Amino acid sequence: SKENVLAFFKNNAFVLFTVAAVVVGIVLGFALRPYKMTYREVKYFSFPGELLMRMLQMLVLPLLVSSLITGMAALDSKASGKMGMRALIYYMTTTFIAVFTGIIVVLIIHPGKGSKAEFGKQQKIEQVSPADAFLDLIRNMFPPNLVQACTQQFKTKYGKRIVTVTMTVNETLFNSTNATQEVMEISREEVIPVPGQVNGVNALGLVVFSVCFGLIIGNMKEQGQVLRDFFDAMNEAIMRLVAIIMWYAPIGILFLIAGKIVEMDDLTQMGGQLGMYTITVIIGLLIHGVLILPTLYFVITRQNPFTFIAGILQALVTALGTSSSSATLPVTFKCLEENNKIDKRITRFVLPVGATINMDGTALYEALAAIFIAQVNNVEMNFGQILTISITATAASIGAAGIPQAGLVTMVIVLTSVGLPTDDITLIIAVDWFLDRLRTTTNVLGDSIGAGIVEFLSRHELRSKDVEMGNSVLEE
Ligand code: ASP
Repeated sequence: SKENVLAFFKNNAFVLFTVAAVVVGIVLGFALRPYKMTYREVKYFSFPGELLMRMLQMLVLPLLVSSLITGMAALDSKASGKMGMRALIYYMTTTFIAVFTGIIVVLIIHPGKGSKAEFGKQQKIEQVSPADAFLDLIRNMFPPNLVQACTQQFKTKYGKRIVTVTMTVNETLFNSTNATQEVMEISREEVIPVPGQVNGVNALGLVVFSVCFGLIIGNMKEQGQVLRDFFDAMNEAIMRLVAIIMWYAPIGILFLIAGKIVEMDDLTQMGGQLGMYTITVIIGLLIHGVLILPTLYFVITRQNPFTFIAGILQALVTALGTSSSSATLPVTFKCLEENNKIDKRITRFVLPVGATINMDGTALYEALAAIFIAQVNNVEMNFGQILTISITATAASIGAAGIPQAGLVTMVIVLTSVGLPTDDITLIIAVDWFLDRLRTTTNVLGDSIGAGIVEFLSRHELRSKDVEMGNSVLEE
């Protein structure tokens, strides 16, 4: 009936708008490509998208801290210990499966085949030892300055900056009667690659602090009440802000996607190895996201994984649009709590940690890309090296911040651990913006399914806690 149709649209308005935004964004992007906009024009055009990114990022810090602290404080340490263990086991298992899938796929398809490049090319390979990389990871868990941890900058080699170049040229002025040569100045804009900086948050450090802090105020009885109330209210307020921003999200996503399509390089260079490489990554991510994770969810919970995924569709599309799992975090929260009815005690605890350390897509990608670069250089990887790659790819995915193309930066660790030339990362830059979106979507999917599985496994603790509290206060 008409009422049912209306109700359907009302309930699914967000999802429908967001999906429509992706479609319109793609169409608009391709329609505008022939106009060859300058870099500056593209930046103006994608401004509404940039605003969405900034709004979401604005929420990440208070959301991450307040949800973790209230989440931890709401549980007793025994229950949270058990849940924490389950979450960690899930993260490690799925990350290893992802790495393994990536390696198998790249070895079978062999996208770097037919390469004439010779290994070495006289490049100096800086050896960063994996041990240093691990120490860095652990170092980041303990930020010496909490305020600084909120504004950490990640250096990248691959930022872009727009510069106006003014050149003096000799130009013959044909329409001048005496046809003398005159000097004139022209200005044009160029995009130059520069060492860039990505502003982010040392999420790992803040996660560690918030977990400990939350556990402690959870055990402080009356004295801790004021802090528990404070962070509870803050969490609630942030989630209300999220609800408002969600209305703007489709517009932002539309322009983010259209802008990127306008800006992307020609697809002509996608032939050959790079094209095969792209296809290999897509196949790997699909196997993990569409086959392995849903199967795991089904085997453990006996519930339909695709109903679950339908509930988080909006988060997945936001990940696709923003290529940042931490910017997507607010949307992931909303989807899981409101559509999939995941207990808040689980989401508050599992999602911030997951968005920070659990990146299946990134892990798969880093291992796959490293072996691809070896193939391009005609280097056979032996078993030991492949093992090293799987371990460092896991570490690199844990260490990567949930921001766009962070995986490209941490890939240096993986490459140097087996002596591959880090400069060859440039081989895959052309397609990274696209593959980044796909692996971010996989990352968010992994975190969400993790929340579903941990909730299922923790149902007894949750219920006995409800009984102990006398009712379902925490369910709200
Ligand atoms: N962009 C990814 C994320 O936010 C990280 C990566 O570059 O792999 O999850």
